[in-house]
Amino acid sequence: MVDCHGREINYMRISITDKCNLRCRYCMPDGVTLTNMSELLSYEEIVSVCQQAVSLGITRFKVTGGEPLVRREADKLVAMIKEVPGVEQVTLTTNGILLKEYAEKLKMAGIDGINVSLDTLNAEKFREITGFDALNKVLEGIDAALKAGLKVKINSVLTKDNADYRSLISFAQEKGIVLRFIEMMPIGYGKEQEGISNRWILDRLEEEYGKLRKASENLGNGPAVYYRLPGKESVVGFISAIHGKFCSSCNRIRMTAMGEIKPCLCYDTSISVKEPLRAGNMADVKARLIWSMAQKPYAHCFEEVEKITEAKKMVQIGG
Ligand code: SAM
Ligand code: SF4
Repeated sequence: MVDCHGREINYMRISITDKCNLRCRYCMPDGVTLTNMSELLSYEEIVSVCQQAVSLGITRFKVTGGEPLVRREADKLVAMIKEVPGVEQVTLTTNGILLKEYAEKLKMAGIDGINVSLDTLNAEKFREITGFDALNKVLEGIDAALKAGLKVKINSVLTKDNADYRSLISFAQEKGIVLRFIEMMPIGYGKEQEGISNRWILDRLEEEYGKLRKASENLGNGPAVYYRLPGKESVVGFISAIHGKFCSSCNRIRMTAMGEIKPCLCYDTSISVKEPLRAGNMADVKARLIWSMAQKPYAHCFEEVEKITEAKKMVQIGG
């Protein structure tokens, strides 16, 4: 469907849990009040929403959370969405902690790719950021995913006190993985963090390599801009929500684990599909998806923090 600002909406992020096995300081340092399982959409209900979304032109889905792999049999959901006629792509974003045990299962489920969130390769920093001494688990997870033949991307959110972009780039190049730097967004605890701008990283890279050219590959569903570093195999991407506002090409809506459809990360506007879903009223589910797309604002207001109306934490939305 094309929204009222002329943007084609073809991508949906689906959160399947608000639980997580990490406590990232910019996301859920103190945990969240957990939702009762009966409040969450079941896998069958999520698939029903996907069917309606497909009928509106949304053909690409990202499974997220909380940490999606803490919900039992997340791989089964991936397989179920993949079976919906018209679905072109199902991917998943994970912190990688449980990836070692899930890599093969996700491959079997037919997943089209995974994003692993990893902000540092320093074990002590990792503990500081996530609250757990578990860097090795993530690294093992990445290796297992590569071994299983999964397409892997790494997403890194850097901050003033965690800005070692070089190690992450070297690691990604060594593994042949696409790395993307994501700017910290002022949502939830992100407001209290001192993020760094992607322009700063690009400037440092250009000091080292000279003027960088954009890579021609279109590697994802989103707003990442990719560059190839001279002499390096893999490209490096930049998702610059703050310093490179990309709202004019925004192609997505989001669904929380409770079935709230969100048109934009920045605002608290949402509509629930749970009630019509549980009443078997699929026409109403579809109508609510259409309403949500029609509500998509022209742009976010992250640069004017006082205008942000979304009070949920990132973990409750799905990033
Ligand atoms: N647990 C999974 C993970 O970490 O990939 C999926 C959910 S997590 C909320 C999705 C993404 O949101 C992660 O890459 C995380 O780094 C990012 N994120 C969380 N809070 C953020 C913020 N305030 N600004 C930018 N990205 C954020
Ligand atoms: Fe968990 Fe992901 Fe949030 Fe970290 S960013 S606390 S891994 S949901």
